Amino acid sequence: MTERIVRGRILTFRDDPRLAGARAWRLIDDGALAIEDGLIAAVGEAREILGRAPKDAAIDDHAGKLVLPGLIDAHIHYPQTRVIGSYGAQLLDWLNKYTFVEEQKFADPAHSAAVARFFLDELFRQGTTTACVYCTVHPASVDAFFAEAERRGARMIAGKALMDRNAPPGLMDTAQSGYDETNALIARWRGRGRLDYAITPRFAVTSTEAQLELSGALAAEHRDAYVQTHLDENFAEITFVKRQFPWAKTYLDVYARYGLLGPRSIFGHCIHLAESEVAALASSGSIAAFCPTSNLFLGSGLFDKQRLDKAGVRVALATDVGGGTSYSMLATAAEGYKVLQMGGQSWPATQAFYQMTLGNARALSLQDRVGAIEPGREADLVVLDSHATPAMAHRMESHEGDLEEELFVLMIMGDDRAVRETYVSGRAAKGG
Ligand SMILES: [Zn+2]
Repeated sequence: MTERIVRGRILTFRDDPRLAGARAWRLIDDGALAIEDGLIAAVGEAREILGRAPKDAAIDDHAGKLVLPGLIDAHIHYPQTRVIGSYGAQLLDWLNKYTFVEEQKFADPAHSAAVARFFLDELFRQGTTTACVYCTVHPASVDAFFAEAERRGARMIAGKALMDRNAPPGLMDTAQSGYDETNALIARWRGRGRLDYAITPRFAVTSTEAQLELSGALAAEHRDAYVQTHLDENFAEITFVKRQFPWAKTYLDVYARYGLLGPRSIFGHCIHLAESEVAALASSGSIAAFCPTSNLFLGSGLFDKQRLDKAGVRVALATDVGGGTSYSMLATAAEGYKVLQMGGQSWPATQAFYQMTLGNARALSLQDRVGAIEPGREADLVVLDSHATPAMAHRMESHEGDLEEELFVLMIMGDDRAVRETYVSGRAAKGG
């Protein structure tokens, strides 16, 4: 039973254009897809799909607009919606001055619920349909986030921050309570609807060895759960970690000792990496999350994608709101492009759009569920308008029909204004 037909210029990736060139994507200029029970049932030329559709099927006609898989954000903090754009600090000061103050409010379930609603509204408004999300240390913040994501049928990964030192008392658990609460949250939420869990030791600065050891135990006990944390973002942070763990040769050694590396482990930032850290990330199949707006805003440094690509490290793209300054994955890709330019590297728009869709889905091992417009995938979509602003329309005038130019305009000049619609589980979700 077809519930809905979405018609438009359908663009989906099958591989990384960096490796497969133009064979990596498929564009159907007058395309359509049929949605049944929240899944993509069929995709093809509009006349074929429309010809087969039942007479009463709802048809959303996005003629001329690009229809892509929903965008995926591999690292974001939902409790930081009121921290984004906080002036004048680098990482450790920024945490103490702004973030740790704001995060204490999430002990209140009503506050958590209200922010979770805002956060998901905002993600959908930006065309982001899946994200890997940090909650606060309070289990209530995780319950509120998952409850709201479940209500909206969204595919989300999230976890309770584990922090048992170097934070205000209101933001600390203990190694044991963090372990117990994480186990309870995993039992309550993991695999429910489209939800999955990330074991979340915030970073080595705010965890004791006992807590990291129990984080490793959690990862061993729940092999299919994710692990998310931060790595090599800022020089003062790295010095702090080395002082706290004098036995560690590198920052990553700390996580490695406790069994926290692996193909479901996402490390935010990965800017100032030693050679041995690059090698360990590659050999363990771990994921480096590139957070360009955050890295620029907090003055942390420039991500070296080429070095990681060459070494075979899996890379994801992420906003890192609220260290990051935009919820938009398009704006994030634009800043990513500029960061790579500063390092003498390039990033064609086809590679960036691959990264925001199938690339991030692969990084999160979700490629069988989301990240592509293929029969059987979940119907999470974004509809993009490359003529959304006068300046974009003007820029496009001399390049109509050139997909790579169009994607580059969307990437460099686009933001929420370019998002015409977002579908989550086959339902229009942009609202307002
Ligand atoms: Zn972060």
